[in-house]
Amino acid sequence: MRILLQFPEGLKQYALEHAKKLEAEGNKVFISASPTFGACDLALDEARALKADKLVHFGHAEFHHVDFNVEYVKYEMDAPLEILRESLAVLKDYKTIGLVTTIQHVHQLEAIKRFYESNGKTVIIGKPYGFAKQPGQILGCDIGSAATVDRQVDAHVYFGGGLFHPLGAALATSKPFLVVEPFENKVEFIDRYRSVYHKRSNGRILAAMDAKNFGILVSTKNGQHNIRLAEVIKSKVEASGLKAGVLVANTFDFYSIGNMLEFDAFVNTACPRISIDDPVRIGKPLLSANELMEVLKIKGELAGQRTV
Ligand code: SF4
Repeated sequence: MRILLQFPEGLKQYALEHAKKLEAEGNKVFISASPTFGACDLALDEARALKADKLVHFGHAEFHHVDFNVEYVKYEMDAPLEILRESLAVLKDYKTIGLVTTIQHVHQLEAIKRFYESNGKTVIIGKPYGFAKQPGQILGCDIGSAATVDRQVDAHVYFGGGLFHPLGAALATSKPFLVVEPFENKVEFIDRYRSVYHKRSNGRILAAMDAKNFGILVSTKNGQHNIRLAEVIKSKVEASGLKAGVLVANTFDFYSIGNMLEFDAFVNTACPRISIDDPVRIGKPLLSANELMEVLKIKGELAGQRTV
């Protein structure tokens, strides 16, 4: 069998080891060297170019169905749970907590839930919107497991490494949001980021108010491709008397985009986190679709005032 292996960045270091195992079973094996952001980003073009019979994608659960033979290999990690005891002190004022994590630790959620319950908490585990598949699991673009229980809980707890995942969930919820980090052994409320990101969003809207030409980013990645939204955005921009172009890439290179000097601002339709996490790398306003609508609304209101 011809097999293409694809690993997220943190697991690329094990690629050769996996390739050799499959070769020993008589397979012809290739390794994708492209950056990999998630199961939204399957190396389908590479697999088809290689006439591969199968793509083996490590480290992420299925995002959505694609028309190719893909095997998803989960990478479960047993993180140490001792840090939970420390989190009890900062959670003392919160009786009901919502619990979320990433796919690497979903198998530990029951043990974490039992720990908090045996210490007097009520624990609620929410369901994702659909891109994430397991109760309690969150992705950068699917924070349903936190957002759907926001009204029922006194605080949210994210268990796992890094800020990428809990940040998206914190921005979409309103209750105190605690990150319990088992690898660096720390517990930290991240609520302050809500106002930081809200201010940044307002800053992007203000910075785009004078833009006349908008570049609309469309990714060809299987789970990020949103040409319909791009076309709606383009028609809205043009209906406001402005110009728009649809810019297509698999992975956006901000240096190349920076060379497109005609554009005054950009609108993201790909991974929603690009406009949250990367906006300064482009040197010009990089808006979400909602932020663009706000820009057009304000521009329309200002134009209306001028004609009165
Ligand atoms: S947050 Fe972005 S990179 Fe992560 S799964 Fe969603 S679309 Fe993909």
